[in-house]
Amino acid sequence: MDYNLQHLFSDLGIFVIEILLVGAVFYMIEKMRPAEEVTFFKPGFREELGLAFLNVSLFSPISIVVMAFFVMNVIQDIIPYQMFSSQIEALPITIQIVFGLFILDFSTYWRHRFTHHFMWPFHSVHHAATNLTWLTALRLHPIDIFTATVFDVLMLHLLGFSGVGLLGAVFILKGYNYFTHANINLKFDKPLRYVLASPHYHRWHHAGEKHAYNKNYCAMFSLIDLMFGTYYHPERLPKGYGLEPLEQKDYPDGLLGWLAYPFKQVAKNFKTKKEA
Ligand SMILES: [Zn+2]
Ligand SMILES: [Zn+2]
Repeated sequence: MDYNLQHLFSDLGIFVIEILLVGAVFYMIEKMRPAEEVTFFKPGFREELGLAFLNVSLFSPISIVVMAFFVMNVIQDIIPYQMFSSQIEALPITIQIVFGLFILDFSTYWRHRFTHHFMWPFHSVHHAATNLTWLTALRLHPIDIFTATVFDVLMLHLLGFSGVGLLGAVFILKGYNYFTHANINLKFDKPLRYVLASPHYHRWHHAGEKHAYNKNYCAMFSLIDLMFGTYYHPERLPKGYGLEPLEQKDYPDGLLGWLAYPFKQVAKNFKTKKEA
């Protein structure tokens, strides 16, 4: 796949427009009904924005190019390419979009669960946020971004999902991810809460309370959490957000610290194992 400067500038242009639009919309919504008292330009705002910028301009394109190369040169020979594309494209567009959303969220669920259990130092960058706003949705370590690309590309490649249905699903899921991270005091009533995630629901994924760890992995369909035993929905809001106190205490503040932290942790764990 060819990725050139023109692609990069159009990606950056879309990113700037996205941030300005989404920021303006959530600036108003978060003011109306906040879950917590957090200022729009909160502590960590600059770093979260900087990380998002790096991901869009550098790490996401690299991940896509690497995965596309891998699919075309390795996977294609092993797994039949786009098994169900003709059946999917025959569906009405709304069904395609809903199906696309579910497929992408199913992939998100298992990738997210995988990162909690096997790639925690990298995913911890997302969880080290002690305040949750729309911008926290973009606070992801580049290796987390790469893992997401691997899961999504493989899943979509396998099925043969493409075209308007896929674009619609990606667009809606992105918007929904901003919504569930936003500082909004909103939970859904039963039975809707068993199907769709709300901002309240995702706040429990970030809760600093031990009983809430490793719950609510979905991005959109809480039904998937319900299916696999990770659904958690207390009525009250969490008391706070972030990591276990010991891990939070030593967590770096700056952007470079966030980028380096997981690698230092992996090296430290490796050294401890070797010495044991
Ligand atoms: Zn998580
Ligand atoms: Zn989150």
